[in-house]
Amino acid sequence: MTADSLAWVDLVQAPLLVVDARDSRVVRGNARARSLLGSVSLDGELSDFLGAYAAGRLKPLVCGEIEDVGELMLYCRTPGGLATLGFKPARIPEQDLCVLTLRALAADAATHKRTEAGIENFGVMLEEIVRSLPVGVEIYDGNFRELFCNSLSDELFGYAYDGHVPHHDDWWERGFPDDAARARAIREWRERCEMVRAAPGEVQRAEWDVLCRDGNQRTVQFRFRFIGSTYIVVFWDVTERRRLEEELRHLAGTDELTGLHNRRRFFEEAERAFTAALAAATQLSILMLDIDHFKSINDRFGHAAGDKVLSEVAQRCANALRAGDLAARVGGEEFAILLPCTDAVGAEQVAQKLLTTIRCVPVEVNGHALPVQASIGGTFRLADDRSVATLIERADRALYAAKGGGRDRVVVLPRSFEEARPQKLGPARRRERGQG
Ligand code: GH3
Ligand code: MG
Ligand code: MG
Repeated sequence: MTADSLAWVDLVQAPLLVVDARDSRVVRGNARARSLLGSVSLDGELSDFLGAYAAGRLKPLVCGEIEDVGELMLYCRTPGGLATLGFKPARIPEQDLCVLTLRALAADAATHKRTEAGIENFGVMLEEIVRSLPVGVEIYDGNFRELFCNSLSDELFGYAYDGHVPHHDDWWERGFPDDAARARAIREWRERCEMVRAAPGEVQRAEWDVLCRDGNQRTVQFRFRFIGSTYIVVFWDVTERRRLEEELRHLAGTDELTGLHNRRRFFEEAERAFTAALAAATQLSILMLDIDHFKSINDRFGHAAGDKVLSEVAQRCANALRAGDLAARVGGEEFAILLPCTDAVGAEQVAQKLLTTIRCVPVEVNGHALPVQASIGGTFRLADDRSVATLIERADRALYAAKGGGRDRVVVLPRSFEEARPQKLGPARRRERGQG
């Protein structure tokens, strides 16, 4: 191919750029294109005349990776300044070329001057500010074709230079690879879009976990609105903030020494479990565990040794429990255990297992093997129980009974349903017990 074979370009009345499909170099451009881009020569890469952002988005069109997008509107950093331009690609595959027809968009604020306010090229300044804002900004036309996206948007999701059609649908596909999660997010987005369309000026917000090109999932908060048919979305990364909140929530409910839940969290969870058990008419048991003669461990081996014993007991309890159970340190050497869907027999079995695991191997502290044992009081939800406080109080009484009975044992109260509710026995049961 000779330079002359492209001489026709100069005769065309619209700004044209002819680009090599293999390396995105501009091989020819006409006078109209030079004037539109504010450049005396057009010798170089596409990015030299349009900026990296626009060039990156045009590349897949130029090399034929993506077909027929009609006109693509892009924010460009031209030698003459910032401008929003339209690009219509026409490929000549047999010559490995692509002809881009350029159009200056009327909305181009770069030409707007406010000399009376002493501000030259106010639009340029404004666009530059939006481009470098510390939040993501994207602007779409009424068909959700991207008109503009700023640096943070590119950096956060990282899809701008990945050869994709810069269309909204594509972002959903990439950001939400899981079909169900994507469907959920799109449904929410559509509902919120309906709301903002119905109430112009209103801003809606949503928060989604989005997969970014670097493989990281980020929690992003979006705010969006329409101005006429133009859709504007602003967003920022709240991943770190949400992680810290979760960490604080976790710390607020965690016992520092043992890593188990703390007293406050136990009561919250117990309340929740009680309400759920009441609603579903399921069993619920609670155990109170207190280490026997713990004070003497402290007295003989020191507070640090006592701490080590507490940690070890906590660990052994946690290991012995099922996934749905919950263990907490509710006092100095006192632990509480919540056993959902567990009846009196199950509670007794778990309690015995805990005592065995605590007692079976002495705790090693500074070369000493300290024998440790504990007592457990347990109870289970009775039909008449109206609050979790009743259960906790009964488990405390059971623990007191276990201590009084000689320690290193389990007491479950009430010992039977009959003991709990003798007045509610039916006639058949009363006859069985010789009560008429
Ligand atoms: P009992 O068999 O009746 O339960 O006797 P005990 O010695 O285990 O119970 P007591 O209530 O008399 O003593 C508990 C001790 O636990 C007293 C307190 O100093 C100690 N303690 C409380 N919290 C901690 C802690 O975080 N670390 C250590 N090392 N000791 C603690
Ligand atoms: Mg004790
Ligand atoms: Mg105690």
